[in-house]
Amino acid sequence: VQPPEKPLQAEEWKRLRENFQSPEIFEEVMLNSMIRCNSHVDVAKSLLTCVAKSDGDVGYNLLIKYLALCVQQQKTSEICDVYDIMKMRFKTLESGAYNLLIRGLSNSDKWRMALTILEDVKKVMTPPRTSYESCIKAATQHQEMNLACELYHDMLAKDLVPTLDVLQVFFDFSRGMKDAELKKQLFGILLYLRDNQIYPHGMFMRSIKLWFESIPGENWRGHITNIKHSGKCPVCHHQLEDSNLTEEEYHILKERITADVIHGRDTFRKTTPQEFEAFQAFVEDRLPFDIVIDGLNVSHIKAKKMQCENLFHAINCLAKENARLLVLGRKHMLFNSSNWNREVMKEMQNKADFFFADNISEDDAFLLYATLKSGKHCRFVTRDFLRDHKACLSDSLTRHLFRKWQRGHQIMVFPSAEGKPFNFLPAFNYDCVVQTTGDTWHIPYKDTFEEKYSYQVPRKWLCLQRKQ
Ligand SMILES: [Zn+2]
Repeated sequence: VQPPEKPLQAEEWKRLRENFQSPEIFEEVMLNSMIRCNSHVDVAKSLLTCVAKSDGDVGYNLLIKYLALCVQQQKTSEICDVYDIMKMRFKTLESGAYNLLIRGLSNSDKWRMALTILEDVKKVMTPPRTSYESCIKAATQHQEMNLACELYHDMLAKDLVPTLDVLQVFFDFSRGMKDAELKKQLFGILLYLRDNQIYPHGMFMRSIKLWFESIPGENWRGHITNIKHSGKCPVCHHQLEDSNLTEEEYHILKERITADVIHGRDTFRKTTPQEFEAFQAFVEDRLPFDIVIDGLNVSHIKAKKMQCENLFHAINCLAKENARLLVLGRKHMLFNSSNWNREVMKEMQNKADFFFADNISEDDAFLLYATLKSGKHCRFVTRDFLRDHKACLSDSLTRHLFRKWQRGHQIMVFPSAEGKPFNFLPAFNYDCVVQTTGDTWHIPYKDTFEEKYSYQVPRKWLCLQRKQ
């Protein structure tokens, strides 16, 4: 339905409603259509007035839709009115309503009310990330940086992952401020990027550069550069951090992962202790491997190819270097099918060791176990990012070591446009991660942020140095 251009009288709405094919949902359909067409709120108001007159009341569903329209158009006083009505009529709202209210109010001069609502939400549930982000943006825009930092830490404590956009506003709105505590907080955000292996996009990188250069009395200079294979920065000649773990670091990592990921409660959610024991015995019999391959994951790389062809190609590429390969497979691969050809499977088993797990097992724990048991030289192949291992990533040292090891040992596979079915991305000599020496910061960044290409390690860097 097309909403009217102007507010209508009750009689006119009634006539429209009678002509509508299913009158019982007329108001909802009409309001949805108003949201889509961005109709004037007065048109929606006239419809709600008509409903109130005939039913004596306006239902929750209709109020929410009206609220969405008001938020879409930044109609602050209307948003407040709806909130008053809702507060009177309903004891608590659902999270979608709170989120709308917070979004609407945080963009207005009544932004502090959004904070109050956020506090109310916290009493009954974990607010969605977007609610926090609306409040943080509002606080930074009003130069209430302490408040913004508090909300940011509160959000992290609740395991909510902030978007790059909200991290960027901290840098945008702190420009030129002389405030030691705030500076510490922004350095903290950069270290958060380091710990979580996050690369800022080009716009965010620019905000970081401008903020550094604006710190009063500190004389920071930023340059954009490419780091060569040697790992030496061409601008300041600083040598970037090595990607290798020391013996001690490797030992710590291995212990922690074995304890938490492999023997922790988490692991057996998707596999049985019996199966995992069988796997351990299998691996220990054949150690050490050079490369451990997540077979199922790699087999999906090119959708147009048979799964076993993809895996076969990967094994052939990697076996050329005379490496000892372990492929983690699933039992269903052994049943001749359109994707898993028995002859090809046989040929692959001549080139690599295969372990076939039950169809429901979780591969990551197997992958980590076999790779770490094989030693420091062993690498692994998967397109996954192993992001789910919260247990082993619970303290910041282990998290850092894990990510560093991952960068240095994970061979990335991605489809190539033509020619070869796919490419491998080798590990770097230097560590591609946000890093600092105090007087320098080196920040890898991406020109565009696309989740699709997140396995690609950036080549571009922001070099920041403090001139004495
Ligand atoms: Zn540099």
